[in-house]
Amino acid sequence: MKEKIDAFLEQVKVRNAHEPEFMQAVEEVAETVLPYIAKHEIYNGKNILLRMVEPERVISFRVCWVDDDGEIQVNRGYRIQMNSAIGPYKGGLRFHPSVNLSILKFLAFEQVFKNSLTTLPMGGGKGGSDFDPKGKSDNEIMRFCHAFMSELSRHIGPNTDVPAGDIGVGGREIGFLFGMYKKLRNEFTGVLTGKGMSWGGSKIRPEATGYGTVYFAQKMLESKGDSLEGKTVVISGSGNVAQYAAEKSIHLEGKVVTLSDSSGYIYDEDGIDEDKLKFIMDLKNVKRGRISEYVDEYPNAKFVKGETPWNEKCDVALPCATQNELNGEDAKNLLKNGCICVSEGANMPSTKEAISEFHKAKILFAPGKASNAGGVATSGLEMTQNSLRYNWSREEVDSKLKDIMEDIHDACIEYGKEDDGYIDYVKGANIAGFVKVADAMLAQGVV
Ligand code: NDP
Repeated sequence: MKEKIDAFLEQVKVRNAHEPEFMQAVEEVAETVLPYIAKHEIYNGKNILLRMVEPERVISFRVCWVDDDGEIQVNRGYRIQMNSAIGPYKGGLRFHPSVNLSILKFLAFEQVFKNSLTTLPMGGGKGGSDFDPKGKSDNEIMRFCHAFMSELSRHIGPNTDVPAGDIGVGGREIGFLFGMYKKLRNEFTGVLTGKGMSWGGSKIRPEATGYGTVYFAQKMLESKGDSLEGKTVVISGSGNVAQYAAEKSIHLEGKVVTLSDSSGYIYDEDGIDEDKLKFIMDLKNVKRGRISEYVDEYPNAKFVKGETPWNEKCDVALPCATQNELNGEDAKNLLKNGCICVSEGANMPSTKEAISEFHKAKILFAPGKASNAGGVATSGLEMTQNSLRYNWSREEVDSKLKDIMEDIHDACIEYGKEDDGYIDYVKGANIAGFVKVADAMLAQGVV
């Protein structure tokens, strides 16, 4: 089997040689899915995974806009339409200077499996720009979003492709993007998710990724007769996902001791409670400040510059910042300090070496495509509400989100249970996500 996997990866690498993040995501899937294909006659000999690693369409475009000094700026915009076998393309937009084709293709590829796992009819896509929103005025953000949508609007639509937020794209940006789409197309449709509550948004959507990540951690702990109550929780990031992962951890009586951003992390031994979290949400979402400012308000806490929080003692770790933020050494440190459960809020935050350490130690480890699927699942619920022209209550959406996370957990157990009873959630998520998409592709023929 190893030779078959190596040969497959070699073949994919020829076309994608300069895309390390994409190859990393493909490798993880190939290692678990190719052995499954080999054992199941209906998928064998159909080059089904080879078809899945090739995007159905890649769109790259110029985005020109004028900054507050009157200078003309040029950025690059992208949309990767990866797979539409089970529904319209669906996936976020990322605005960050690191954005390139490799990062967006890895995200789009993961999105295909994740969306399939949610049980909702959504294909996979991803997009964004190398635009850096940091330090830009609201007017600059608006001009950039409008310029970006003036091209993207040709390629998306409620039955074609429905983007959402990701790093650097929150409620403010979705508003500007939606405004321009509506003007250009002269239609009010559910073309973006993560919209504001008064213009088509869903309750719980802002909270959904973080809440879902914690619901998944709780399900994993429950499978061992344990729970989050009284557990020390270490979280990275301080954006949308991290904030609501912290909130739900606090609700479930975990003690959250860290949050971070790209400059370093804060450690609060007394725990970050609801009041302190409110301060952080205001600092990050309204004042657009840095996490280091937390220690000015709470001097008992410390700020550790330029480091990630994985050296701190914890029971549960929730990486919620970005890809490859937790490496093999970090994983060893977490294990040494007693960590028993890792639930990924970010996409591919753990490197291959880190995952291998977690698996060797047989701790609970959930890959982002399973544990952070609550965000896109609730986007799917937003699309349903838009089609129905109806809004569900907070309780209704939260209960559907919980049910979906439980279903994903069950699917991981179905396909990921090893002979010794250990649940390999990576294998479970990859195979469960694959089966639904592959069956649809087989039914639709070679297109
Ligand atoms: P935000 O932009 O709201 O927050 C991102 C956070 O991560 C910030 O604290 C940011 O710090 C930090 N960060 C970003 N890049 C780096 C880096 N290179 N090194 C260290 N820290 C970094 O994004 P989200 O919270 O929405 O997204 C976080 C992760 O969750 C991403 O991996 C995203 O793909 C994933 N995700 C998001 C979903 C959503 O619904 N929003 C859904 C599913 C997954 P700084 O401000 O310093 O840049």
